Amino acid sequence: MTGRKLVLASNNAGKLAELQDMFGSLGVELIRQGELNIPEAPEPHRTFIENALAKARHAARLSGLPAMADDAGLCVDAFGGLPGVDTAYYCTQFGYAKSDANNVRALLEQLQGQANRRAAMVSTLVAVRSADDPEPLVASGRVAGLITEQPVGENGFGFDPVMYIPEFGQTFAQLSHEVKNANSHRGRAARAMLALMRERWYPDAAA
Ligand code: IMP
Repeated sequence: MTGRKLVLASNNAGKLAELQDMFGSLGVELIRQGELNIPEAPEPHRTFIENALAKARHAARLSGLPAMADDAGLCVDAFGGLPGVDTAYYCTQFGYAKSDANNVRALLEQLQGQANRRAAMVSTLVAVRSADDPEPLVASGRVAGLITEQPVGENGFGFDPVMYIPEFGQTFAQLSHEVKNANSHRGRAARAMLALMRERWYPDAAA
Protein backbone atom coordinates (compact mmCIF):
# COMPACT_ATOMS: atom_id res chain seq x y z
CA MET A 1 0.00 0.00 0.00
CA THR A 2 1.40 3.36 -0.96
CA GLY A 3 -0.75 5.47 1.35
CA ARG A 4 -3.29 6.53 -1.29
CA LYS A 5 -6.35 6.93 0.85
CA LEU A 6 -9.81 7.30 -0.69
CA VAL A 7 -12.86 7.95 1.45
CA LEU A 8 -15.93 5.98 0.38
CA ALA A 9 -19.07 8.00 1.01
CA SER A 10 -21.03 4.90 2.00
CA ASN A 11 -21.18 2.82 5.15
CA ASN A 12 -22.16 -0.36 3.37
CA ALA A 13 -19.52 -2.97 4.30
CA GLY A 14 -20.41 -5.17 1.30
CA LYS A 15 -19.82 -2.35 -1.17
CA LEU A 16 -16.55 -1.47 0.53
CA ALA A 17 -15.24 -5.04 0.32
CA GLU A 18 -16.19 -5.36 -3.36
CA LEU A 19 -14.57 -2.04 -4.27
CA GLN A 20 -11.50 -2.56 -2.08
CA ASP A 21 -10.70 -5.75 -3.98
CA MET A 22 -10.64 -3.80 -7.24
CA PHE A 23 -9.04 -0.53 -6.14
CA GLY A 24 -6.32 -2.29 -4.15
CA SER A 25 -4.61 -2.85 -7.51
CA LEU A 26 -3.97 0.92 -7.68
CA GLY A 27 -2.50 0.93 -4.17
CA VAL A 28 -5.64 2.70 -2.98
CA GLU A 29 -6.94 2.11 0.52
CA LEU A 30 -10.66 2.71 0.90
CA ILE A 31 -11.93 4.16 4.16
CA ARG A 32 -15.62 4.22 5.05
CA GLN A 33 -16.71 7.74 5.90
CA GLY A 34 -18.28 6.48 9.14
CA GLU A 35 -14.81 5.49 10.37
CA LEU A 36 -13.91 9.19 10.18
CA ASN A 37 -17.16 10.18 11.92
CA ILE A 38 -18.41 11.82 8.76
CA PRO A 39 -22.22 11.88 8.75
CA GLU A 40 -24.16 10.91 5.64
CA ALA A 41 -24.75 13.78 3.24
CA PRO A 42 -28.25 14.76 2.18
CA GLU A 43 -29.29 13.49 -1.28
CA PRO A 44 -31.73 16.16 -2.42
CA HIS A 45 -31.15 15.91 -6.17
CA ARG A 46 -33.14 14.30 -8.98
CA THR A 47 -30.24 12.66 -10.82
CA PHE A 48 -27.75 9.97 -9.80
CA ILE A 49 -24.80 12.07 -10.84
CA GLU A 50 -25.80 15.10 -8.77
CA ASN A 51 -26.37 13.01 -5.65
CA ALA A 52 -23.12 11.08 -6.07
CA LEU A 53 -21.19 14.33 -6.62
CA ALA A 54 -22.79 15.94 -3.54
CA LYS A 55 -21.87 12.91 -1.41
CA ALA A 56 -18.28 12.71 -2.70
CA ARG A 57 -17.75 16.45 -2.24
CA HIS A 58 -19.16 16.33 1.30
CA ALA A 59 -16.84 13.44 2.26
CA ALA A 60 -13.81 15.19 0.71
CA ARG A 61 -14.60 18.45 2.47
CA LEU A 62 -14.95 16.86 5.90
CA SER A 63 -11.99 14.46 5.56
CA GLY A 64 -9.51 16.56 3.61
CA LEU A 65 -8.94 13.43 1.46
CA PRO A 66 -9.99 12.29 -2.01
CA ALA A 67 -13.45 10.74 -1.91
CA MET A 68 -15.76 8.60 -4.01
CA ALA A 69 -19.53 8.08 -3.85
CA ASP A 70 -22.17 6.17 -5.75
CA ASP A 71 -25.86 6.53 -6.40
CA ALA A 72 -27.93 3.86 -8.05
CA GLY A 73 -31.40 2.77 -8.91
CA LEU A 74 -33.88 1.38 -11.36
CA CYS A 75 -34.88 3.36 -14.47
CA VAL A 76 -38.11 2.17 -16.07
CA ASP A 77 -38.68 3.16 -19.68
CA ALA A 78 -42.48 3.38 -19.40
CA PHE A 79 -42.11 5.77 -16.45
CA GLY A 80 -39.72 8.14 -18.22
CA GLY A 81 -36.78 6.71 -16.27
CA LEU A 82 -38.37 6.78 -12.83
CA PRO A 83 -38.14 5.73 -10.02
CA GLY A 84 -34.41 6.55 -10.46
CA VAL A 85 -33.08 8.25 -7.33
CA ASP A 86 -36.29 7.29 -5.46
CA THR A 87 -35.83 3.55 -6.09
CA ALA A 88 -35.10 2.50 -2.50
CA TYR A 89 -38.34 4.13 -1.32
CA TYR A 90 -40.40 3.36 -4.43
CA CYS A 91 -43.15 1.36 -2.73
CA THR A 92 -43.75 4.02 -0.06
CA GLN A 93 -45.32 6.20 -2.79
CA PHE A 94 -48.12 3.65 -2.88
CA GLY A 95 -48.59 3.32 0.86
CA TYR A 96 -46.41 0.21 1.39
CA ALA A 97 -43.78 -0.07 4.12
CA LYS A 98 -40.24 0.14 2.71
CA SER A 99 -38.92 -3.33 1.78
CA ASP A 100 -37.51 -5.17 -1.23
CA ALA A 101 -40.61 -7.37 -1.45
CA ASN A 102 -42.94 -4.37 -1.42
CA ASN A 103 -40.83 -2.56 -4.01
CA VAL A 104 -41.19 -5.55 -6.33
CA ARG A 105 -44.92 -5.80 -5.63
CA ALA A 106 -45.49 -2.08 -6.32
CA LEU A 107 -43.48 -2.25 -9.54
CA LEU A 108 -45.46 -5.23 -10.87
CA GLU A 109 -48.72 -3.48 -9.97
CA GLN A 110 -47.70 -0.26 -11.69
CA LEU A 111 -46.61 -2.15 -14.80
CA GLN A 112 -49.75 -4.27 -14.99
CA GLY A 113 -51.04 -4.28 -18.59
CA GLN A 114 -47.99 -2.30 -19.76
CA ALA A 115 -46.45 -3.75 -22.93
CA ASN A 116 -43.19 -1.81 -22.64
CA ARG A 117 -41.29 -3.71 -19.90
CA ARG A 118 -37.87 -2.19 -20.64
CA ALA A 119 -35.83 -1.06 -17.62
CA ALA A 120 -32.22 -0.62 -16.58
CA MET A 121 -30.31 -0.84 -13.32
CA VAL A 122 -27.98 2.13 -13.27
CA SER A 123 -25.04 2.96 -11.01
CA THR A 124 -23.10 6.21 -11.14
CA LEU A 125 -19.77 6.61 -9.34
CA VAL A 126 -18.16 10.01 -8.82
CA ALA A 127 -14.67 10.65 -7.39
CA VAL A 128 -13.05 13.96 -6.45
CA ARG A 129 -9.48 14.77 -5.39
CA SER A 130 -10.78 17.52 -3.10
CA ALA A 131 -14.05 19.27 -2.33
CA ASP A 132 -13.13 21.91 -4.94
CA ASP A 133 -12.01 19.52 -7.67
CA PRO A 134 -13.25 21.11 -10.92
CA GLU A 135 -12.88 17.84 -12.84
CA PRO A 136 -14.58 14.99 -10.98
CA LEU A 137 -14.20 11.49 -12.38
CA VAL A 138 -17.59 10.14 -13.42
CA ALA A 139 -18.29 6.51 -14.32
CA SER A 140 -21.64 4.96 -15.07
CA GLY A 141 -22.64 1.31 -15.30
CA ARG A 142 -25.90 0.16 -16.81
CA VAL A 143 -27.60 -3.18 -17.30
CA ALA A 144 -30.65 -3.19 -19.52
CA GLY A 145 -33.39 -5.75 -19.08
CA LEU A 146 -37.10 -6.48 -19.11
CA ILE A 147 -39.35 -6.49 -16.05
CA THR A 148 -40.99 -9.92 -15.76
CA GLU A 149 -44.68 -10.45 -14.96
CA GLN A 150 -43.80 -12.48 -11.83
CA PRO A 151 -40.68 -12.85 -9.63
CA VAL A 152 -38.33 -15.62 -10.83
CA GLY A 153 -35.25 -16.92 -8.98
CA GLU A 154 -34.01 -16.97 -5.39
CA ASN A 155 -30.65 -15.18 -5.42
CA GLY A 156 -29.74 -11.53 -5.05
CA PHE A 157 -31.79 -8.72 -3.56
CA GLY A 158 -33.87 -5.70 -4.50
CA PHE A 159 -35.38 -6.00 -7.98
CA ASP A 160 -33.25 -9.00 -8.99
CA PRO A 161 -36.21 -11.46 -9.21
CA VAL A 162 -38.05 -9.30 -11.77
CA MET A 163 -35.03 -8.09 -13.74
CA TYR A 164 -34.78 -10.40 -16.78
CA ILE A 165 -31.49 -9.98 -18.62
CA PRO A 166 -31.83 -11.00 -22.29
CA GLU A 167 -28.09 -11.56 -22.74
CA PHE A 168 -28.25 -14.33 -20.06
CA GLY A 169 -31.80 -15.51 -20.76
CA GLN A 170 -32.41 -15.36 -16.99
CA THR A 171 -33.33 -12.92 -14.23
CA PHE A 172 -30.59 -11.48 -12.03
CA ALA A 173 -32.00 -13.65 -9.21
CA GLN A 174 -31.31 -16.82 -11.24
CA LEU A 175 -27.65 -15.96 -11.80
CA SER A 176 -24.92 -17.00 -9.36
CA HIS A 177 -23.51 -14.30 -7.11
CA GLU A 178 -20.25 -14.30 -9.10
CA VAL A 179 -21.86 -14.02 -12.53
CA LYS A 180 -24.24 -11.30 -11.37
CA ASN A 181 -21.53 -9.22 -9.69
CA ALA A 182 -19.25 -9.46 -12.69
CA ASN A 183 -22.09 -8.19 -14.90
CA SER A 184 -23.98 -5.84 -12.61
CA HIS A 185 -24.40 -2.10 -13.08
CA ARG A 186 -22.24 -1.68 -9.97
CA GLY A 187 -19.47 -3.91 -11.33
CA ARG A 188 -19.49 -2.10 -14.68
CA ALA A 189 -19.35 1.34 -13.04
CA ALA A 190 -16.53 0.24 -10.75
CA ARG A 191 -14.47 -1.14 -13.65
CA ALA A 192 -14.97 2.08 -15.61
CA MET A 193 -13.97 4.18 -12.58
CA LEU A 194 -10.89 2.04 -11.98
CA ALA A 195 -9.75 2.63 -15.56
CA LEU A 196 -10.37 6.38 -15.28
CA MET A 197 -8.53 6.67 -11.98
CA ARG A 198 -5.57 4.73 -13.35
CA GLU A 199 -5.41 7.01 -16.38
CA ARG A 200 -6.03 10.39 -14.71
CA TRP A 201 -4.93 10.17 -11.09
CA TYR A 202 -2.41 7.33 -10.87
CA PRO A 203 -0.73 6.88 -14.27
CA ASP A 204 2.34 5.49 -12.53
CA ALA A 205 0.49 2.67 -10.79
CA ALA A 206 1.62 -0.81 -11.79
CA ALA A 207 -0.63 -2.27 -14.48
P1 IMP B 1 -28.36 1.40 -3.61
O1 IMP B 1 -28.38 2.89 -3.65
O2 IMP B 1 -27.31 0.80 -4.45
O3 IMP B 1 -28.34 0.85 -2.23
O4 IMP B 1 -29.74 0.90 -4.26
C1 IMP B 1 -30.87 1.71 -4.48
C2 IMP B 1 -32.07 0.81 -4.78
O5 IMP B 1 -31.84 -0.01 -5.93
C3 IMP B 1 -32.45 -0.17 -3.66
O6 IMP B 1 -33.87 -0.24 -3.61
C4 IMP B 1 -31.89 -1.49 -4.09
O7 IMP B 1 -32.67 -2.57 -3.62
C5 IMP B 1 -31.98 -1.39 -5.61
N1 IMP B 1 -30.83 -2.10 -6.18
C6 IMP B 1 -29.54 -1.69 -6.14
N2 IMP B 1 -28.73 -2.60 -6.71
C7 IMP B 1 -29.54 -3.60 -7.11
C8 IMP B 1 -29.27 -4.82 -7.77
O8 IMP B 1 -28.13 -5.19 -8.08
N3 IMP B 1 -30.34 -5.58 -8.06
C9 IMP B 1 -31.60 -5.23 -7.73
N4 IMP B 1 -31.90 -4.12 -7.09
C10 IMP B 1 -30.88 -3.29 -6.78
